[in-house]
Amino acid sequence: MAIYFDNAATTKPSATAVEAFIQGTALYGNPSSPHALGAEARRSLEAARVTLAGLAGCKSEEFYFTASGTESNNSAVYGLWELRKRYGKRVILTDSEHPSVKEPCRRLEAQGAEIVYLPTRGGVIDTDFLKEAIKTPSALVCVMLANNETGAVYDLKAVRDVINGAGSRALLHCDAVQGFMKAEGCKQALRQADTAAFSAHKLHGLRGVGGLMLKSNLHPPAFVVGGGQEKGIRSGTENLAAAAAFAAAAKEYGKDALEKVKELRAYIEEKLKEIGNVGFNIPPKHLDGILNISLRGIKSETALNCLSAQGIYISASSACSSKQAENTVLAAYGLDKADRECALRIGISPLNTKEEADALVTALAEARQRYGRI
Ligand code: PLP
Repeated sequence: MAIYFDNAATTKPSATAVEAFIQGTALYGNPSSPHALGAEARRSLEAARVTLAGLAGCKSEEFYFTASGTESNNSAVYGLWELRKRYGKRVILTDSEHPSVKEPCRRLEAQGAEIVYLPTRGGVIDTDFLKEAIKTPSALVCVMLANNETGAVYDLKAVRDVINGAGSRALLHCDAVQGFMKAEGCKQALRQADTAAFSAHKLHGLRGVGGLMLKSNLHPPAFVVGGGQEKGIRSGTENLAAAAAFAAAAKEYGKDALEKVKELRAYIEEKLKEIGNVGFNIPPKHLDGILNISLRGIKSETALNCLSAQGIYISASSACSSKQAENTVLAAYGLDKADRECALRIGISPLNTKEEADALVTALAEARQRYGRI
């Protein structure tokens, strides 16, 4: 049996999500068809939208379905740039954004954007830096809700206050892929943003469906053109079964799930303290579901492979940046090279158990004992 603690990379679809998906596939009409089958499909799609918008704290007409968090981030960055580039060419993003935000921002350089990285040392936004940076007319500020490697939860209200305080016309995009339903005060935080990105597979929904919150006063050019679905913003026949599963999974990720994750995290932390010589890379505000540690004495890759051989799955860094030679997010966090080289990310879900946590910590201790260099 697999022991899966890589829940920041992706999660196993929950039974509730799978059930909602199966029911959704029975509604095979095209949501855009004017006949009764189409109307039935549309009702299901709209019900999912209402649920997700309610959880995200926006109006249902502000919530659009996409195919991934990556698509949502790309669309938001390009869309907001189009809306504001005439007011300022500066694009400010944290130095720990996900590549699906970083890369589209970098592409904007070809259109004259000046990219400025906002420091997040210790997992905290440097608002003094932002105050200075925003004095130059800016188009866009990107701050994620929660970081995918350290679990740091960033203060969006403070960022909004700086933008407003400076009288800047910059729009604020929030990558909420990791933080949605998990970060404390998530709904209030999301209200600070003009756009936000979501992804179903981080909270026990299915892969291949995401969401984009776009404030109703904003009208960027269409992201994907064609048949005019999603109010013309994002064409393509909607994946209503996956959207229904997304809504079911998000609804299920409530107080009980969060409590369970919190408890399990505390348990794992205690167990890790017992094995000793572990660095805890924990920002002051963080998701309980992401625990980043430095298992001193053994390289991340070695520990990872050793656990994998036993059917225990964690990660050395995010799945998306694991091909990079250097972990830039942990460097931005301020972790020294030695601690970066032995960093591990434990992604905890409400589906994990204490027995699994015991097996994980035992396996980590044994891996270090057998293959560690000290
Ligand atoms: N943003 C963050 C913070 C993520 O962790 C991820 C996935 O790892 C994404 C965006 C991309 O989401 P998706 O896998 O749905 O494209």
